[in-house]
Amino acid sequence: MDLKEIIEKNDSKILLLVADGLGGIPHPEHGYRTELEVAEIPHLYELASKSALGLTIPVEPGITPGSGPAHLSLFGYDPVKHEIGRGVLEALGIGFHMTKRDVAARGNFATIKPDGTIIDRRAGRIPTEQSRKIVEKLQEHIKEIDGVEIILKPGKEHRFVLVLRGDGLSDKLTDTDPQHEGLKMLDPEPLSDEAKFTAEVIKKFVKKALEILKDEPKANGILLRGFAKVPDLEPFPEKYQLRALSIAAYPMYKGLTRLLGFDTPDAGDNFETEVKKLKELWNEYDFFYLHYKDTDKAGEDGDFEKKVKVIEALDKFIPELLELKPDVFVITGDHSTPSFIGGHSWHPNPLLIYSKYAGIFNREARFTERDCSKGYLGTIRAMDLMPILLANAGKLKKFGA
Ligand code: ZN
Repeated sequence: MDLKEIIEKNDSKILLLVADGLGGIPHPEHGYRTELEVAEIPHLYELASKSALGLTIPVEPGITPGSGPAHLSLFGYDPVKHEIGRGVLEALGIGFHMTKRDVAARGNFATIKPDGTIIDRRAGRIPTEQSRKIVEKLQEHIKEIDGVEIILKPGKEHRFVLVLRGDGLSDKLTDTDPQHEGLKMLDPEPLSDEAKFTAEVIKKFVKKALEILKDEPKANGILLRGFAKVPDLEPFPEKYQLRALSIAAYPMYKGLTRLLGFDTPDAGDNFETEVKKLKELWNEYDFFYLHYKDTDKAGEDGDFEKKVKVIEALDKFIPELLELKPDVFVITGDHSTPSFIGGHSWHPNPLLIYSKYAGIFNREARFTERDCSKGYLGTIRAMDLMPILLANAGKLKKFGA
């Protein structure tokens, strides 16, 4: 259904707190409890006892998503239909502002033999500082090819981002990275006629770059993959008729929400500065996305105790957030990152909705995966969350007579 036809604007405010990778699974070395079950989080438990609880499936059952698609889902966009290419995610991750005319690719410096055979796909993981200088040298010598602007941005170690900016570019191209050592670098192959021009530009770029890099001891080759344009998405503020603010310290999240049309002010580099910025701008928006990264980092490190600690640290901010009196306060994750797994997983995310109209709550419930699994909201797709939030905020009219 077209939600827009029943949306009505009002003054109510929705605060969506996404604790990245929040969910966990029982850990055998910690009494088969999850991080949320071990953590001392009185504020979150108190809130859970008067909130509707449930679980959200990030993308589809059994699918482990990256943070990009998992966030798209939370914002109500089908992440399978609107795939965000690796090149775009990489560009967003280093804080690069992409436009609709751009094609981005992930780049690697590599060590190659004179005949183009790859010896090391990561150029010995050259230090970031050294790699940065090589990127600068390339940029200095290559600024434009056949009317297409060439933009190079350094990443960590051997990584960089290549952006082509111009009219008539396409991302329907194969990678130049054969993914294995002992093979030769590949030419980009156009997958459709519209991509022929782009493929030619990239070939010329690589040729020039190899000429400039020929005396580099390690970084004398270039591998490109994940050519991608920004997906054509209806801006979030239009889709839901909301003034939307994104508060995120990490470039990827800031970049992704900027693509979706959120305002993305500088929110400092930690959660405390994020909350400060949120309070500053509270009166100017209706929808607030607030991102907390530490839960995912600890989970990725497989560090149970650390994840418990950062969940406890988050708990301390809850009273301050409640003081803002959001009409709808939602806490969930984008995907789970159980420390027992040490990476993202497919497990559904704990979900808490605190609002006057949220529905049945259980005074005994705590904010844990276990209690969320028994919650009133049931297990829903993350993609279906937005209409529920709008409804709780009184922003949806009756459908039909
Ligand atoms: Zn994530």
